[in-house]
Amino acid sequence: MRQYKYHLEKYHTGSKRTCPKCGRKACFTRYVDNDGRHVFPYHVGRCDHERLCGYHFSPRDYFQENPQMFKAMTNEKQNMTLASSTPQRESQPSFIDKSVMERTLSHYSINPLYTFLVRTIGKEEADRLCRLYRIGTSKKWGGSAVFWQVDCQGSVRTGKIMLYDAKTGKRVKEPQSHVCWVHTEMKLKDYHLRQCFFGEHLLPLYPDKQVFIVESEKTAVIASHFMPDVLWIATGGKNGCFNEQAIHVLAGREVVLMPDLGATQEWQGKLPMLRKVCRSASVNDVLETIAADEQRSLGLDIADFLLMEDTPRMILQKMIDRNPALQTLIDEFGLELVEEP
Ligand SMILES: [Zn+2]
Repeated sequence: MRQYKYHLEKYHTGSKRTCPKCGRKACFTRYVDNDGRHVFPYHVGRCDHERLCGYHFSPRDYFQENPQMFKAMTNEKQNMTLASSTPQRESQPSFIDKSVMERTLSHYSINPLYTFLVRTIGKEEADRLCRLYRIGTSKKWGGSAVFWQVDCQGSVRTGKIMLYDAKTGKRVKEPQSHVCWVHTEMKLKDYHLRQCFFGEHLLPLYPDKQVFIVESEKTAVIASHFMPDVLWIATGGKNGCFNEQAIHVLAGREVVLMPDLGATQEWQGKLPMLRKVCRSASVNDVLETIAADEQRSLGLDIADFLLMEDTPRMILQKMIDRNPALQTLIDEFGLELVEEP
């Protein structure tokens, strides 16, 4: 075995990143292997601010915490020499052409999630949030929502297609679950899925916002309407992209987890992994403290609570449903719903 297999990355434009401890920009250097590749998680590196911050997490520290990785990485090295560059290529995520995504950002009249959003928070907000979060329309199942996963470099990883009930805003899970992937529908060859957070592309746009993480994509969107001061992103499932690789994008951020009812303990288990990378990480358990037993058994999430009482928009919509002439009247006079703060 050669010595000094890992060393600090040589300086080049963009090589210095945000320090996971002090959060200062362009002062953090990561460790690389002899070929200059990033082989460690983001937090393995050193901060320039020796006195003010002093953060230094070396490969040795990493292997002490993860002894199984030492073996795995030594083996990987050997395999790489034997099988040339194949393993490296397999670990790279595949992308989908941006134009494919852009074409889906339309036809909202057949998108039941969009219809639900218009009924609950109004057309203007529904339009804004679909644009912001990149929610598209698929013709699957007669019209469904596409939650695009765009990473913080702006590359499109994939999209998750899901069917919703336009009236209740709930997922349609009968007779089957009505979920599928864009890359599967496109029958892409040699496609390698590596999920990122839903809403991840917003992280660089709001570098100072606290990041709130929820499980469901729809919940992130609804919460961001009601609580716009923080940035809401979604894992897209209980485990979704909660892994060491995907959470690098949260380096240096203040992160708060908002688990669905019943998942608090499980998400608490993610904190040690997050704290290595994030400036701070905690679990918000406000739902656990306010929920009734029945709600707990249903596994409700923050969006269910936010929409528990009808919004003024929902009340108006119900009146229109009962008396369609009301909509004509509103259109005729250009009336607008004034929502009190
Ligand atoms: Zn630092």
